[in-house]
Amino acid sequence: MEQPRAGVHYPRSTGEFQAWFRTDADCLDYLEWLRWPGGFTCPDCGHAGGWRLGDGRLECAACHGRTSVTAGTIFDRTRTPLTVWFTACWLFATQKDGISAQSLQRSLEIGSYPTAWAMLHRLRSVLVRPGRDRLSGTVQVDETYIGGDEPGLRGGRARGKKVLTGIAVEVSEPKGIGRCRMGVLADGSAESLHPFVTGAVEPGARVITDAWQGYCGLDGLGYVHERRSQAAARARGDDPGELLPAVHRVASLAKRWLPGTGSTRSRNRCRSSRSSGSATA
Ligand SMILES: [Zn+2]
Repeated sequence: MEQPRAGVHYPRSTGEFQAWFRTDADCLDYLEWLRWPGGFTCPDCGHAGGWRLGDGRLECAACHGRTSVTAGTIFDRTRTPLTVWFTACWLFATQKDGISAQSLQRSLEIGSYPTAWAMLHRLRSVLVRPGRDRLSGTVQVDETYIGGDEPGLRGGRARGKKVLTGIAVEVSEPKGIGRCRMGVLADGSAESLHPFVTGAVEPGARVITDAWQGYCGLDGLGYVHERRSQAAARARGDDPGELLPAVHRVASLAKRWLPGTGSTRSRNRCRSSRSSGSATA
């Protein structure tokens, strides 16, 4: 399917929205057009063509089966008019910082708060896609071992319980830290790191990593990839351990918070184990 275009597939403005969806019949028309862009096709017999009944359902011209365009959608079996639902969708999609049940109730002049709340709940369940809250802007990404220090086990022997964890942190220059995402990684390979990055970071973001080869190829996934090399930092006289200060701060906080992870592993340990892993591969 082609990319949805404003003004063609969805309204460009609130004025256009109001013009498109004045009545419940307008809303039904639109839903039918979305579902059957080439005209109504009977889901029972596959026949193309039919008519709309007084209750809004469609009747097949061949088998006379009746179909509701709202069946299986969030608009199914609702007492709330479609125009109200559509307005709720519009507000939900256009309010930058989200919308509360209270403000929805006010805007739509819905009598009851529970109704507004239930509508919002339904909208959230279908409209908030998993990738919607991915990090954006400038994001530092790194991976480190976290967790699993057990009493009696010290040093390398505790490694068995540790998990390699990907960390992505939004940064605002020069020192601010925004949202962060962490995820368990199978290993430090590109096959593990790339899905972590695409799941955590919005395409188009500037992604800063170290020079590890597992991050190669992020450019091809739609990111502006900036690699920081430890050798270059050393040559500049900078601390190579401070290449990605935001992720390191988040990592050390996570290690402090998680039970049984009091000791902070040095970054070099993580790096050398990763390197040896790649050497054997
Ligand atoms: Zn039919």
